[in-house]
Amino acid sequence: MATEDPLRLGVVAGDGIGPEIVSAAVQISERALAAVSVPVDWRRLRMGAEAITAEGTPLPEATLAELDRLDAWLLGPHDNAGYPAPFRDALSPGGTIRKRYGLYANIRPARRLSGAIPAVCPTLDVVVVRENTEGFYSDRNMYDGPGEFMPTADVAMAVAVFTREACERIAHQAFRLARTRRRSVTVAHKANVLSKTTGLFRDSCVRVAEQYPDVTVRLEHIDALAALLVARPAEFDVIVAENMFGDILSDLTGQLAGSLGMAPSVNLSDTKAMAQAAHGSAPDIAGRNIANPVAMILSTAMLLEWLAERHHRGALADAATRIRDAVCRSLDDGVHTPDLGGAATTTGFTEHVLSVLASA
Ligand code: ATP
Repeated sequence: MATEDPLRLGVVAGDGIGPEIVSAAVQISERALAAVSVPVDWRRLRMGAEAITAEGTPLPEATLAELDRLDAWLLGPHDNAGYPAPFRDALSPGGTIRKRYGLYANIRPARRLSGAIPAVCPTLDVVVVRENTEGFYSDRNMYDGPGEFMPTADVAMAVAVFTREACERIAHQAFRLARTRRRSVTVAHKANVLSKTTGLFRDSCVRVAEQYPDVTVRLEHIDALAALLVARPAEFDVIVAENMFGDILSDLTGQLAGSLGMAPSVNLSDTKAMAQAAHGSAPDIAGRNIANPVAMILSTAMLLEWLAERHHRGALADAATRIRDAVCRSLDDGVHTPDLGGAATTTGFTEHVLSVLASA
């Protein structure tokens, strides 16, 4: 990508609060990119309930064909449970996209963004590095089918998959990231009970750790870790976890640092990146203009940083910094959505961030 080329970014609004928070992220990133003279070519794509109504499938071929050509996009949440059969029980559109593009690393930072926000653990500053392609989420593990079975009406089973390759790959992500932070990796596992599956995960991480002698390694049982994060949050830096452990743990860390509505994430392969808030579609508050858009906005900033590194385009990193600073300033100014105890609307918060960006 040449410096003067417009940035091509996919935009998939998704379900529930998706259209509201994705719209906020698009407006704010467009403004920040304009400030560093980078034009954007947005590619708007359908996914979810809107796509079912329009095209009879939650993930149309046209959406996938465009994603094939892109290396970065924003993805809103999906609400599988709200889809009609048979889509309700199929692999979610987000899961399908992660699988198709091998987005194996889900990076989920959590830290308090502003002193004006009440937080259960104000000193928490961690990144959960979540393996994204296998583990205890059985729907990711199959060539075909959901990986869950019911041999009788009263018995349910699920398939867990752990491979050395995927465990080592995610461990490398965690250790590389730790080198840019406080050089500490905690491995979340439960090998005292699940010695084969999470034992392989733990042992793979320990083996990879030998290549990073400058990074300290700590091993913690997932249940103990949940308690320790609340009791002694300042002890943790990067946490590496299998798929389901990482998903649950990152909801916890997001809320401990302020609100789930402010927990960003990116999903990465070695060649593609997808910005996606750590939270779900929040159908309980959809369409009411009260969703906190911060998670989606900061996920987009993370995406721009990844693109900056990949394409050696420092302006994109500058835009990411502008976005993050403007969000923190807005929170410092006391513009808070209801999940933070405030009365700001999604659009009101967005307008405030835009005005901060304009005055920067
Ligand atoms: P998923 O399995 O898709 O991640 P979930 O079951 O974890 O979904 P969420 O959709 O993340 O559930 O919602 C959990 C709670 O957090 C809900 O009460 C929801 O309203 C709230 N919530 C989630 N995201 C936001 C947000 N951006 N702003 C405000 N509240 C939110």
